[in-house]
Amino acid sequence: MNNMEIDSEIRLQDEKDPLKSFRNAFFIPKDDKGNERVYLTGNSLGLQPKEAKTYLLEELEDWAKFGVEGHVHARRPWVEYHSFFSESLARIMGAKQEEVVAMNGLTANLHLLMVSFFRPKGKRTKLLCEGKAFPSDLYALRSQLRFHGLDDSNLVLLHPREGEQSLRTEDILAKVHELGDTLALSMLGAVNFYTGQFFEIQKITQAIKAVGAFAGWDLAHAAGNLPLELHKWDVDCAAWCSYKYMNSGPGGVSGIFIHEKHHALTDIPRFEGWWGHDSESRFKMPDHFQPMPTAEAWQLSNAPILSMAAHRASLDLFDKTSMQELRIKSLKLTAYLEEILNELGRKYQTDWSILSPIDPEQRGCQLSLLLPKKGRALFDYIQSHGVTADWREPDVIRLAPVPMYNSFGDLNRLKKIMIEFYETH
Ligand SMILES: *Cc1c(COP(=O)(O)O)cnc(C)c1O
Repeated sequence: MNNMEIDSEIRLQDEKDPLKSFRNAFFIPKDDKGNERVYLTGNSLGLQPKEAKTYLLEELEDWAKFGVEGHVHARRPWVEYHSFFSESLARIMGAKQEEVVAMNGLTANLHLLMVSFFRPKGKRTKLLCEGKAFPSDLYALRSQLRFHGLDDSNLVLLHPREGEQSLRTEDILAKVHELGDTLALSMLGAVNFYTGQFFEIQKITQAIKAVGAFAGWDLAHAAGNLPLELHKWDVDCAAWCSYKYMNSGPGGVSGIFIHEKHHALTDIPRFEGWWGHDSESRFKMPDHFQPMPTAEAWQLSNAPILSMAAHRASLDLFDKTSMQELRIKSLKLTAYLEEILNELGRKYQTDWSILSPIDPEQRGCQLSLLLPKKGRALFDYIQSHGVTADWREPDVIRLAPVPMYNSFGDLNRLKKIMIEFYETH
């Protein structure tokens, strides 16, 4: 096919896309000349839903109109604001409504989960995580160890085999088996931020439970990226952030999942605050804590309404589709990106390689490109020619075509800009 044929083929793909109208629900950043940029960093900060402003203004209006009485009289009463997220979040996470709650920031929530699920005792003292985990998670895990008077040797990191980039499930299972009754908690990133690898959560969780440990997952790069079944997979606890694939704005509220089987336990350690107290008697302000019989028991404070208003606007869009539908498009988009990279790699004999797993089932939408030589030059070129991508020192470009707002046309434009670079450098 010549270029014109390819362009019209790609246009057709976008016209046929059953989710195409979602793109219009977002502000797409533009360059100085007013052209839309090819935005491929939804894995870092999702785009702004156009409705976010309306939701935010409604809360500002209600605050102006009611003052403190907005807690009860606002259109979405603030006292129960967190509960307006449970249904949507439950669908995205594959959970029961009672198992999820939106609260705090992600790293704060990881700590709160560890208060409950990292309870080192006797020889069961080990924490398990990927070697190339997001740094904040490693800081959190190591500081938890120190908090319990344990040294760093209790943090067990998983590394790929020599010459490989992804972790093999069989190797993870073997490590879990080897750790056996020394493993207290596993806290892997369900989708690794660097390689985009999507771990086999169900299998790994099962193995972790079989050795008597707790299975926690950091869903920062998984939530809103691909379908999850946290309840069915028997995950003990999980946390995510809402500002990546869930498009809820910089620093947007995090959320947690606590499997229902832990809700009624009275001996589970938990840091407590009034928003975790039974809602029936919360405002009678009793001296003693009576937990909510749900994941809400882990809440500490009243909700940050203004930032959560944007989260609500974003979840309204997720409510209009499903993670399954998004995934169908996502598999096609990422396959097309892979095809482009393979084609250009051959044509220009680049030294790059794709770090992300080849098997689409073992990755989300992101592809990470390892470029030992001209990486930075290519990155700077595409960045200054209308592509927003992400550079990880020293040699990786991460590209995340997000099914909710990216198009095949976006990727076709990326291709042309990359060709321009290789034709001139
Ligand atoms: C993005 C990300 C974070 C960020 O943490 P915050 O507490 O939201 O600032 C932490 N962990 C992982 C795995 C992430 O991808």
